[in-house]
Amino acid sequence: MRSKNSFIPRWETSGLLLVGAGTYCLLLIALLALTQFTAAIGLGVGGLLLFMMLLRGRQEAACMRAELAVQQESMRVQQVEREESARSLAQMNQNLAQMNTLLAQASGRFQELFQGLPVACVCYNRQGEIMEWNRAFERLYERSDLFGQSIWQTIYVPTEAPQIAEAVAAVMNGESREGIEWTHKRGNGTAAQLHCSIFPLRDAEGEITGAISADVNISAQHQAEQALRASEERLHALYNTTSQQELSFEAKMELLLRRGGEQFGLEIGLLTRQIEGQEKVEQAYSPKNSIALGALYPLQNAPGINVTLSAPVRVSGKVWGTLCFAGSHSQSVPFASGDREMVRLMAQWIGGEIGRREADEAVRESEERFRSAIASLSEGLIVMDTEGVIHVCNESAEQIFDLTRGEVQKWKPLNPSYVARREDGSPFPQGSYPLVVSLRSGRPQRDVVMGLPRPDGRLLWVSVNSNPLIRPGEESPYAVVATFSDITERRRDEDKIAAQMAQIKTYTSVLESQKKQLEVANVQLEELAMCDGLTGLGNRRAFTHRLELEMGRASRYSTPLSLIILDVDHFKEYNDTYGHLAGDEVLKHLAFVLKEQGRETDFYARYGGEEFAVLLPHTDSVGANIVAERLREIIEASEWPCRPVTASFGTSTLLPAMQNSMNLIAHADRALYAAKAAGRNQTVHALSLAAEAVPTQKE
Ligand code: GH3
Ligand code: MG
Ligand code: MG
Repeated sequence: MRSKNSFIPRWETSGLLLVGAGTYCLLLIALLALTQFTAAIGLGVGGLLLFMMLLRGRQEAACMRAELAVQQESMRVQQVEREESARSLAQMNQNLAQMNTLLAQASGRFQELFQGLPVACVCYNRQGEIMEWNRAFERLYERSDLFGQSIWQTIYVPTEAPQIAEAVAAVMNGESREGIEWTHKRGNGTAAQLHCSIFPLRDAEGEITGAISADVNISAQHQAEQALRASEERLHALYNTTSQQELSFEAKMELLLRRGGEQFGLEIGLLTRQIEGQEKVEQAYSPKNSIALGALYPLQNAPGINVTLSAPVRVSGKVWGTLCFAGSHSQSVPFASGDREMVRLMAQWIGGEIGRREADEAVRESEERFRSAIASLSEGLIVMDTEGVIHVCNESAEQIFDLTRGEVQKWKPLNPSYVARREDGSPFPQGSYPLVVSLRSGRPQRDVVMGLPRPDGRLLWVSVNSNPLIRPGEESPYAVVATFSDITERRRDEDKIAAQMAQIKTYTSVLESQKKQLEVANVQLEELAMCDGLTGLGNRRAFTHRLELEMGRASRYSTPLSLIILDVDHFKEYNDTYGHLAGDEVLKHLAFVLKEQGRETDFYARYGGEEFAVLLPHTDSVGANIVAERLREIIEASEWPCRPVTASFGTSTLLPAMQNSMNLIAHADRALYAAKAAGRNQTVHALSLAAEAVPTQKE
């Protein structure tokens, strides 16, 4: 913007200067041209001075112009600032107006809030003049015309509430006081229990100008606390009733029913029990004992019972029965929850007590059963702890030990001086006692035989079983139960039996050897019975036996069987001539010859006297004759001591028609007879007899 003070434009002064300088130069050139040097010098100096003056003037003018420009700029900025200030001011005015509106609204809301607060609030100045209060305050104190009135005369009368007066004095000194309890007596004679908090009110400079009190009516809470205290007292009374050790359960119940009825203002107290779907009165407290035990509940024919307060009685979680308090009067106010809770607690205690009684009873019964079971045991039973102390001892144990119970319990089997015996009589180390092993290992021990020295020195033999007793959740036994039976007698019997057994064993072995001897003798006898004493050949009995065998075999396998019977010729004469002994020698030698010559399968026997028989299995008639002839020849050719000896031979061969062995013998006999008849020293086969007993060979 151009300043109003700029009287010559810058370009105009420059132009004038240029024209002036031009003119001056032309003039100077003209003067020089005219050689007017002095004038030229004078003009030059004058011009230079002028120029310098002009230049200086121009610089000043430029400075002035610059200052002017700065001033103009400053003025422009101020102008702008002024305009902005004006705008801010307008904005501020607008904001202020809005704030005033908001403040008015906030104040209104604060008033609303203040008025709507459920807490009774009152503001008063240092002199106690009431400035402001809310509706809750009006309701609580039933006053509305309070402005300017003294709070000490209307509300906080110092004689009634000295603690408030003291608190307000402290608040005026800058403190705050909360939770002051006091009682306000209303005009209608009732009283309100109040909970008061007081705070200072300050002005803009922070000076305390008064105080605000907030009163909360805690009458209901107070009543509840009182009710709670009463309930606690009742509970205490209940506890006192139930915790009297000297009273029986029935006596406690009676007291409980009576006191409960008194507490609830009900004249009847009942405990009923559910039996087979019905509730029967188990215990009752009633005026003049009008309710009989065993009556059914709900009570029949009990007019006028209007009010009941009851709770189920549970035993081990199951409904056992009911605790009930009843009354005939009409209850205008319903029972408080505390009363119901009280009855519930009473029912709970009763349930617990009944459960405990039942459990005690069950334990007692169990103990009784256990006691009678261990008493009736024929075995001895003791229970010993880890210290070796005996706690339980049954009658059988007393009898077996021949000690009284007291003596047994004093007896210390783990005493180092006590030496028990093993079954073999050696010392029994205490560490190996079955009771000790069970205690140490937690495992049962079975049928361990121990010899226990009695105090009188006798040895008691027992068979012991031991079982560790371990509490649930524990690993080590706390005791051991041992059962034992007296085996002293048994052991004695066993010893006797063992001795007898040993004797029997000896006898048996003797008998065994005798039996063996007998068998041998029998065999010998048998052999003797089958043997001819003179010749050593089989006798007639042996021959008959063998003949039967061979007959059976031959007929079974259809094999031939032949028989030779030979008889010494004129043997009587031999005997008569040379003596019987010489005859015997003949017979012996003859037997020797037969054995020498015979086959292994053939059987030789002395048939009787001077007769011999030879059985020839697998041999037919031809074979038989051959054998017979050979024997005959050998006999005839043998060297005999006294005179030559010959023999006659009769042979027979088994035929299918033959019924038995006697036929075969008879055939041979006939053939022998034929041989004798034919002149002796010859062989005749039975088959040839049919053809006129022609000898097969004749010398
Ligand atoms: P034969 O030729 O007809 O057979 O005439 P024998 O004399 O042999 O027949 P006899 O039947 O008349 O006589 C048999 C004799 O054998 C009679 C008896 O003394 C004799 N004797 C029988 N057994 C024995 C014995 O064991 N020892 C002795 N030494 N002789 C016996
Ligand atoms: Mg004869
Ligand atoms: Mg003869």
